[in-house]
Amino acid sequence: MAKLNPFEMSQKQLDICADILHLDPGTHAILRTPMRELHVSLPIRMDDGTIKVFQGFRVQYNDVKGPTKGGIRFHPDETIDTVRALAAWMTWKCALVDIPLGGGKGGIICNPKELSQGELERLSRTYIDKVFQFIGPDQDIPAPDVYTTPQIMSWMMDEYSKIAGKNQFGVITGKPMCIGGSVGRTDATARGGWYCVREAAKEFGIDLKGATVAIQGYGNAGYHAALLGQTIFGSTIVAVSDSKGGIYNPAGLDSQAVYEHKVKTGSVINFPGSEPITNEDLLELDVDILILAALEHVITGENATKIKAKIVAEAANGPTTPEADDILYEKGVHVIPDFLCNAGGVTVSYFEMVQNFNRYCWTEEEVHERLDERMTAAYHATLRGSKKYDVNMRRSAYVVAIERVVEAMQTHGWV
Ligand code: NAD
Repeated sequence: MAKLNPFEMSQKQLDICADILHLDPGTHAILRTPMRELHVSLPIRMDDGTIKVFQGFRVQYNDVKGPTKGGIRFHPDETIDTVRALAAWMTWKCALVDIPLGGGKGGIICNPKELSQGELERLSRTYIDKVFQFIGPDQDIPAPDVYTTPQIMSWMMDEYSKIAGKNQFGVITGKPMCIGGSVGRTDATARGGWYCVREAAKEFGIDLKGATVAIQGYGNAGYHAALLGQTIFGSTIVAVSDSKGGIYNPAGLDSQAVYEHKVKTGSVINFPGSEPITNEDLLELDVDILILAALEHVITGENATKIKAKIVAEAANGPTTPEADDILYEKGVHVIPDFLCNAGGVTVSYFEMVQNFNRYCWTEEEVHERLDERMTAAYHATLRGSKKYDVNMRRSAYVVAIERVVEAMQTHGWV
């Protein structure tokens, strides 16, 4: 069978939930397609004086619960269907953490590694010139995503503000702190994931103090997951990895020292006092918690039967295939699905918007407390749904989210 493209995949996931929820055909049809999308041509003067025309997109999937929100990706393989799927997933993710936002996403087909800083700035500003009418603090709020940075967000916010004739900090999130960014954004994804793990551990009677943890990936999500697990919950991080390989120490790794070693040498491998372990073997370790913070499709039909962890936390997007999902559910492995587990990032982005609107900066404690409230509530709503519909946590997360979007559509009178 031909591989589904991401948009077809997101529609298929919706179709399954529509059956569970007995959605009427009209409501189902509205949810199957984006509400609005814009395709733009972006002519850029390159450093050598020539003009090159790039293609960009912005998709607003559904705004029934509030202005749409979602990142902008710069990628050579970007397609409109990827952007549509990601915009749909943002709609469900925002509904699951119960923030008053809809889902959107944007992208430009380009290879940012081949662009100079000047070209990158002109591309970022031109994109905003072209989508200006379409976005705004009350309408659609972009954010960073693959290969887009706080600097790019700053140029985009500046360009939007120039056209608007006034500072519009709230039009974009993921900004640096000095121009309206929020404290607590850097580790928000890992922190939100740990709040879910904490609730799952209570449910399954696992004491996090001394619980064993293996983490695949040691970038933003993986490193902070290791550090927070060790420092807040007293868990023992027995193995971590990156694209070059993994390290193992049953007595526990010092997360900060491993990070410094990675900064110095470019990888976690060869960390003093650790044994090497492959990425494949790390997944199959007999640990309490396995955190996936690298790539998609790492637990598959091939290795799912060998997973020994009691809890699998998906910080990464799409690390478990549908076939593996069924096997893990049968085995009783508790999977905290990606769009619940990594929703801490968008939640703190929403906090950034709220602070921008009010021109007030919260303390780090306030951000953490509010993040904890949202993530804990979302986790328990998903767990309840899983029991009510007798489905795994992933399917339940979709059902809970879609149910909330549908309720808003009915209340608006759309259906
Ligand atoms: P990152 O680029 O900072 O880190 C990725 C890590 O994965 C690196 O350590 C890299 O070496 C490792 N890696 C790459 N290939 C690997 C392989 N074959 N085997 C093992 N490790 C490998 O990225 P990140 O921001 O930490 O994101 C990781 C995942 O989490 C992605 O799926 C991302 O979409 C998801 N996510 C991140 C955030 C966030 O706020 N950072 C939010 C939502 C979702």
